[in-house]
Amino acid sequence: MDELNTKEINEEEMINQAFQELLDDYLHTKHRKRVEIITKAFNFANQAHKGIKRRSGEPYIMHPIAVAKIVCNEIGLGSTSICSALLHDVVEDTDYTVEDIENIFGPKIAQIVDGLTKISGGIFGDHASAQAENFKKLLLTMNDDIRVILIKIADRLHNMRTLGSMLPNKQYKIAGETLYIYAPLANRLGLYKIKTELEDLSFKYEHPEEYAEIEAKLSETAAERDKLFNDFTTPIHTQLDKMGLKYRIIARVKSVYSIWNKMQTKHVPFEEIYDLLAVRIIFDPHDPEEELNDCFDIYVTISKIYKPHPDRLRDWVSHPKANGYQALHVTLMAANGQWIEVQIRSERMNEVAEQGFAAHWKYKEGGGSEDEGELDKWLKTIKEILDDPQPDAIDFLDTIKLNLFASEIFVFTPKGDLKTMPQNSTALDFAFSLHTDIGSHCIGAKVNHRLVPLSHKLQSGDQVEILTSKSQRVQPQWELFATTASARAKIAAILRKERKANQKLGEEMLNDFLQKEEIALSPAICIEKLRKMHNFHTPDELLVAIGDKSLVLGDAEKNELKEKRPGTWKRYLSFPFGGGSKEKTEEESKNAGQPQEKEKIDTQEVIKLTEEDLQTKYTMADCCHPIPGDDVLGYTDENGQIIIHKRQCPVAAKLKSSYGNRIIATVWDTHKQLSFLVYIYIKGIDDVGILNDITQVISRQLNVNIRKLNIETDDGIFEGKIQLWVHDVNDVKTICNNLKKNKKIQVATRVEG
Ligand code: MN
Repeated sequence: MDELNTKEINEEEMINQAFQELLDDYLHTKHRKRVEIITKAFNFANQAHKGIKRRSGEPYIMHPIAVAKIVCNEIGLGSTSICSALLHDVVEDTDYTVEDIENIFGPKIAQIVDGLTKISGGIFGDHASAQAENFKKLLLTMNDDIRVILIKIADRLHNMRTLGSMLPNKQYKIAGETLYIYAPLANRLGLYKIKTELEDLSFKYEHPEEYAEIEAKLSETAAERDKLFNDFTTPIHTQLDKMGLKYRIIARVKSVYSIWNKMQTKHVPFEEIYDLLAVRIIFDPHDPEEELNDCFDIYVTISKIYKPHPDRLRDWVSHPKANGYQALHVTLMAANGQWIEVQIRSERMNEVAEQGFAAHWKYKEGGGSEDEGELDKWLKTIKEILDDPQPDAIDFLDTIKLNLFASEIFVFTPKGDLKTMPQNSTALDFAFSLHTDIGSHCIGAKVNHRLVPLSHKLQSGDQVEILTSKSQRVQPQWELFATTASARAKIAAILRKERKANQKLGEEMLNDFLQKEEIALSPAICIEKLRKMHNFHTPDELLVAIGDKSLVLGDAEKNELKEKRPGTWKRYLSFPFGGGSKEKTEEESKNAGQPQEKEKIDTQEVIKLTEEDLQTKYTMADCCHPIPGDDVLGYTDENGQIIIHKRQCPVAAKLKSSYGNRIIATVWDTHKQLSFLVYIYIKGIDDVGILNDITQVISRQLNVNIRKLNIETDDGIFEGKIQLWVHDVNDVKTICNNLKKNKKIQVATRVEG
């Protein structure tokens, strides 16, 4: 009994101490000192969650306090958001309602808590619906109050920081969803620090060994980097001191996840990543009006010390990113010949970069700069996508993601107005960004006065004039030319609308034709016969073709329908055209969006993948071809089949985000009995006998079966792919290492195919 009491007292102390820290942090901000309402929110949440524990064993209230701290310290929001963060799980997890919150804390906090409650499903609850749907809801609340999203991101960050206490299958789901949705979202809102941490944490859970490996290499090379940093910045200090500026210089080390990403995409080892270190110069301007000039003055000063890379000046100072990010990026050559990126920004710009757009707005309220519109524009785009009903939730996710990931370029209208567009935008994207009407009647464009096709990719600084014609209409292949989410959504919507109209017209035309030709067969049978005759996949396609006049009904069709049936009856039934089959497709897509939960497999279990089971029970995914030793997970499909995917497989990423509750944690339990096909990419210096060297290593030394070997040489460099049979990842490692022992072979790495 005594022991229990002590434990309770200790917990109470822990809770109070955590809350006191939150209050202290808050009092150190520039916000109004509304301690009373924050204390009230804490007391309310504390008694509401009383006695409830998290999976880690901690009292539940520690979670809302931690989320409130993130909201306060890392996003820089004020008392309304802190209160909402403290209360964010009250309505979801206790008997209190949104009305209760409204009565005690007023409508604003209640509205935010309501928004957070609506999107809370699927994170801790087992009643997880398709995550795509949740995400859609999340974005919808963004229009009500952006703070809902910011608090949601803080909630996710804390859940990721404490992910270790969750079950493994939940870990993959949450980590996958974080990488797929939350990190890009944080990035888009300018929360760069949070985005990086979310990525690193996700990576840590999905690929623990690689994470540890990179971390170890980073700490091994830390001293080297420190020296490089000191050598590089010493002359900079001297010159900046002469300018009489108040400034600080900090080192930025590339994140574990971005290092891994680069290793994967560039097929290079850790040792060949040369941009691990970046340098940041943060200064206090003499005069706020002068901060832009100060940036360029610093740039001029340091490029007198080190040679700047001519193509790598990024001016986000004169043209801030849509999320408010401002800085001048330059790349300079250090004394040892290495290129180093230097980011120049004022303290104000730095705060915006770290805390994202919340800080941006804080400054704007006082400052009143005129770039207010960019984020609003982005929000409007999201809203347009949301307003357009998409048949498939997964398509929708892709559309949104397109928009989240894009970085930006600047292009000019003929009148010299500046427009921000996502990178890789085409002339067609630009046309749609001006107006839907301009987009849909666009026939071409002039870029810097030269005529280009609609698919032409724009570059920063281009001047773009769109040419239109009244007779032009949206073409199906435009979906391939458009890269922005909003243009794609608009094109798809117009095409869908036209298709529907044509289908309806086709129905009417077929009806008229059957009447005129006195065909006695039922319409459904006629459609089926014509569909087969013209090789259409669905009745709808046939009707659309009739409607858009690409199929004209004539004698051939008449004969087909009248054949063997010289009937004299004229009977016209009501037309069930399309109707029946259309309902079916909608039904199907509904099923695709919301899986039926009938499988019996216990998803909380960690399944051992034995060789025997791999041959009988489980299927290796066709998309990513995992082999024993890869970081994998299982996914139970509609038929109860378990499919094994690599954890970083893009298909698996979607599955994790959309059907997280069907994810199963797996571990390998194989003993080199089965063989699997893998591809190894090799590159190096061409030489007589290189082919022999390669086969020597693989077949003779390692006794591995080569299935295919394909090598091309060009200008003294050879490049190629080997397809071979291996047992597991260790075999692949041994082969690659042995190949690389040959000095002529510079790259040997496994690729997807
Ligand atoms: Mn929560």
